Amino acid sequence: MRVIEAFRESFGAEPRGVWHAPGRVNLIGEHTDYNDGFVLPFAVPWGVAAAVSPREDDVVRLRSLQVDGPAVTVGDLDGAEGWARYAVGVVWALREAGHPVRGADIVLDGDVPQGAGLSSSAALEVVVGLALNELYGLGLTPMEIALLAQKAENDFVGMPCGIMDQAASALCEEGRALFLDCRTLGTRNIPFDLAAQGLQLLIVNTGVHHELADGQYARRRRDCENAAKRLGVDALRDVTDLAGALAKLSGDERKRVQHVVTENHRVEALIGLLRAGAVREIGALLNASHLSLRDQYEVSCPELDVAVEAAIRGGARGARMTGGGFGGSAIALVADDRVESVREAVTAAYAERGWAAPEIYPATPASGARRLV
Ligand code: ADP
Ligand code: MG
Repeated sequence: MRVIEAFRESFGAEPRGVWHAPGRVNLIGEHTDYNDGFVLPFAVPWGVAAAVSPREDDVVRLRSLQVDGPAVTVGDLDGAEGWARYAVGVVWALREAGHPVRGADIVLDGDVPQGAGLSSSAALEVVVGLALNELYGLGLTPMEIALLAQKAENDFVGMPCGIMDQAASALCEEGRALFLDCRTLGTRNIPFDLAAQGLQLLIVNTGVHHELADGQYARRRRDCENAAKRLGVDALRDVTDLAGALAKLSGDERKRVQHVVTENHRVEALIGLLRAGAVREIGALLNASHLSLRDQYEVSCPELDVAVEAAIRGGARGARMTGGGFGGSAIALVADDRVESVREAVTAAYAERGWAAPEIYPATPASGARRLV
């Protein structure tokens, strides 16, 4: 295994183990996690592998095969820079929570496209958390690891993400989507067998990442928190009378509430269809989710809209942006016999506009984080 060879080369010893955590695609339930709402992601077949050994001092040595250069050595955790903060942040979060975690030698090897909205960052955090949990005998549950990984990203990296990405990476199961109630943290693995129905879920990686993404994410969170305050609820999850709520709001807050409340209903409706074995019928909900994210939540962008529209023109049963937005990826639910025409339609639509060809690949629901060796 390449990550083991790199570990030997970097540190002159065998790693104590190798772990793997996947990226994820969110089927539906976008920008609902930080509103205490519902999400329905599944793990993708790509992820981050980590070869790890514990150390007897407090130093973290870290190398990624996706980053040029030798291992970086981090003594004072706060001195870590750039990509290393995602891994070091997990050590920091574990220590902050009082766990007896000392240093570690870590080599990472990832194949999740970075910044594509498929959550390479959560895969990296969760794989480090899983490894340290085992090596230091901490006895944490997968959800506890996910929460610490989220804390690392929120408070150490400085990205105010919700719990979805880390929970998906830690808890998903092969052939299933993960229903997560982001308030109670209750989960259920819902069978999501596309192949049996002659369907594929295509990921369209737009290849773009618009710079405004991070600032806009924080602004959306603020809009939601302000709206919840105005409505006198703990979180937008608690809005039951949508019409009544909208009547009390205006401007951006009104639109954000419209999205979050209806998106939670769409998650529940989609789960109902999956339970009924009607996976072919979920397309309309995907389309509605996209329109709501585009028009009410205002987190789409031309590249995502064109991908979605072209996929539907090409014969997809439904399509939507997935992930935070402003670039990244769209997903399209496509019958096997339409895959080629969807690919062609999306590729042609990009070419017409002079945009670089998007990457298009099918994703099957894969396993969550686990030990490999
Ligand atoms: P996403 O999670 O959607 O892929 P993010 O911007 O949240 O996008 O996270 C991407 C960042 O995570 C990268 O810029 C890099 O700092 C870090 N990262 C992800 N995978 C790796 C890897 N294999 N090696 C080093 N850093 C990585
Ligand atoms: Mg991320």
